[in-house]
Amino acid sequence: MSLSRRNFIKLMSSGAAALGVSGIIGPAWLNTVSKALAANKAGNIPVIWLQGQSCAGCSVSTINTRFPDIAEVLISIISLEFHPNIMASSGYLALSILENATKKAGEFVLVVEGSISTADKGLYSTMGGDDNNPTTTLDWVKKLGPSAKAILNVGTCSSFGGIPAADGQETGAKSVPEILPGATMINIPGCPSHPDWVIGTIAHVLLYGLPELDRDRRPKMFFANLVHELCERRHYYEEGIMAEDYSDEGCLHELGCKGPIAHCDASIRGWNNRVNWCVRSGGPCIGCTEPSFPDHKGDGLYAALPESALQGIAWVKNKKTAAA
Ligand code: SF4
Ligand code: SF4
Repeated sequence: MSLSRRNFIKLMSSGAAALGVSGIIGPAWLNTVSKALAANKAGNIPVIWLQGQSCAGCSVSTINTRFPDIAEVLISIISLEFHPNIMASSGYLALSILENATKKAGEFVLVVEGSISTADKGLYSTMGGDDNNPTTTLDWVKKLGPSAKAILNVGTCSSFGGIPAADGQETGAKSVPEILPGATMINIPGCPSHPDWVIGTIAHVLLYGLPELDRDRRPKMFFANLVHELCERRHYYEEGIMAEDYSDEGCLHELGCKGPIAHCDASIRGWNNRVNWCVRSGGPCIGCTEPSFPDHKGDGLYAALPESALQGIAWVKNKKTAAA
């Protein structure tokens, strides 16, 4: 089956969902994209998934993909050759997969989850080698990155540094773009990344090559809009009705919401099999997809954004609480 890139983007993107185009973000994704991938003669692309300084949350999130489910992904879309948590092999046998991949230039996609330790020669994140000469994640990224067809940085840690690179860190945590600035790569941030963002990007790379990216190398099909633009509490913001506590009605601006500076489509895509999303559940957006996460230039996660950060967004002059 032939699926045009234009229709693929429509299926994936928040813009189409906002317009109510049928079949978005659900079983139609599975049917349409799976058929297109099945017709793709290139077959399942080998994927090498490395973990650096991470909590493995992006792996957990990706494995919980619903449309398609992870079995479909592993059988029909990718060939997951290396993944520290779920591969069957271990020890030298597992590490030999990485060594062999370095000889297969352009034949695999490298996924990196977690930031890269660079202090003390990268000693705070290692995999393989021996006690006297451990192989660091920094070594593996430098060895494998240049041979990869593309690098997918899954999660904010590998994309921008994330929590391991927060103020006060001592491991020299850096993003993959800082380690390999000239490499072909896509950032799929989020703490964690949404499974659709990961699987959709892999599908785009397989079917059409690199997707269109924004200035932070994020696929526009998922990250073009500000959270604030598509927020269901936006009318409260416009009316100046502010929540004072997490369970209140009202805009969550004063509780630290980073929706006005954060890019993602969670408000219409939903999390946990479309059940809910961050702001609807009563928690402010923490701006987890942004390069500034988690420090946000000193504002932190729960301080209200200063007016200077709200350029171009109508500011409320007469704020009141929902209860007033
Ligand atoms: S500040 Fe946050 S809660 Fe308020 S409208 Fe914007 S995104 Fe929604
Ligand atoms: S709405 Fe905010 S906290 Fe939720 S996924 Fe998007 S950027 Fe992250």
